[in-house]
Amino acid sequence: MVYDTVVIGLGPAGSTVLYHLAGRGFRVVGIDMARFPRYKSCGGCISVKVGELLDFDISHLIEHTVYGATFTYRCARMMDIISDEVVGYNIMRDRFDHHLLEQARKRGAEVVEGLRVVDVVEKKGYVEVECDEGRTFKGSFLVGADGASGITGRKVFGMDRRRSAVSVTAEVPYRSEDLGMEIDGRLFIDFGSVPYGYGWIFPKERYLSVGIAGDTLKVGGRIKDFFNTLVRGHTLLKGLRIGERVGWTVPTFYGEMPLPVKGRIALVGDTGHLVDPFLGEGIYYAIKTASMASSVIGDAIESGTPDLSTYGEMLKGEIYPEFTSAERLSDLVYNHPRLWYRMIEKEPEIMYRFYDVIRGKESFGVFYRWIWSKVRSKPWKVLRRWLESRFLPA
Ligand SMILES: Cc1cc2nc3c(=O)[nH]c(=O)nc-3n(C[C@H](O)[C@H](O)[C@H](O)COP(=O)(O)OP(=O)(O)OC[C@H]3O[C@@H](n4cnc5c(N)ncnc54)[C@H](O)[C@@H]3O)c2cc1C
Repeated sequence: MVYDTVVIGLGPAGSTVLYHLAGRGFRVVGIDMARFPRYKSCGGCISVKVGELLDFDISHLIEHTVYGATFTYRCARMMDIISDEVVGYNIMRDRFDHHLLEQARKRGAEVVEGLRVVDVVEKKGYVEVECDEGRTFKGSFLVGADGASGITGRKVFGMDRRRSAVSVTAEVPYRSEDLGMEIDGRLFIDFGSVPYGYGWIFPKERYLSVGIAGDTLKVGGRIKDFFNTLVRGHTLLKGLRIGERVGWTVPTFYGEMPLPVKGRIALVGDTGHLVDPFLGEGIYYAIKTASMASSVIGDAIESGTPDLSTYGEMLKGEIYPEFTSAERLSDLVYNHPRLWYRMIEKEPEIMYRFYDVIRGKESFGVFYRWIWSKVRSKPWKVLRRWLESRFLPA
């Protein structure tokens, strides 16, 4: 039997493809090597714009509502920048991803859990997926949604794994009465604690999701050291037991990467490096790119034309310009974290405006041009301050 579409991986990206295609009445199957609910190393903050992509309720999954953040520079110089409007919500990924998968299942998608895909071969008129136990699945189209560790991005498209961020996270149990400070309505973000990246603490109902991520090549194998320095130094974590640490990759967008669509195969979410390179926000883009790909695949199934190139055009038109500006912003902020921190200390409006980028109300492009014009309008002053700051204690 040939399915209309086979989907590999059932995180937010894969479940979204199943949800949309099953909703249009197509025969779809999704395969995941995990059984759900499954753990996923993640900060678990979804921006408010995720709500625009979902037509079902997720309010019962929200554990913490975010209006802003308490920032630090290398665990010091603490500063609250909290807005009046919601920026995002903190969820636990095991529950969130399971809920998305259940929505797809309810619409009639077939789901195979606990089965690992080992190879993908495009044949004449269909794609064959080879799994453990010698099982195979055939689809008129194939969607790779197998995340950062998946095979479709690397093996079929040649995505470069080194062009990623490397991370360590831990879920730290806590009781509000044991914390020495306010956590309501905020995230905790630390700049300067890791090369080309940042550290975070995202509060949930019972856990603080603590993590750090930095550019794989620049971090050079020292990510655990940076994580340990963060957890030893951050005031919020004083006296808490950190517990098990988990390492993971954040496959961020990079300018020269292959377009993640060819023939009858499309990549969505992490396996296609469709992650914003500034924040590492990937859940929104997993759902967004999955929605785009499924609309193009649905049309291709209906018309009988095996052409998915429109998905590539959509990425180039809507997503890549944003990611390119986010990459530029990363160069500015993460190559000069001390200068950046001084800027936001002096002008918190910068972060208030950036919250609008996270909300989806302003583009990365407009924000980047605004920041860059600020830096350029005072080149000597900024440069002098930055040079001076290099000789001040952290
Ligand atoms: C430390 C860290 C913190 C993050 N924090 C945030 C955050 O706060 N907010 C945010 O928006 N994003 C965050 N992200 C990014 C976010 O986690 C990802 O972008 C998101 O999970 C992408 O969803 P996905 O469906 O593409 O992949 P995934 O959620 O990774 O799902 C992929 C699925 O594929 C399955 N799979 C893999 N290989 C195979 C195989 N061979 N056969 C069968 N199944 C397979 C896996 O079991 C998995 O279930 C973070 C990432 C990391 C690493």
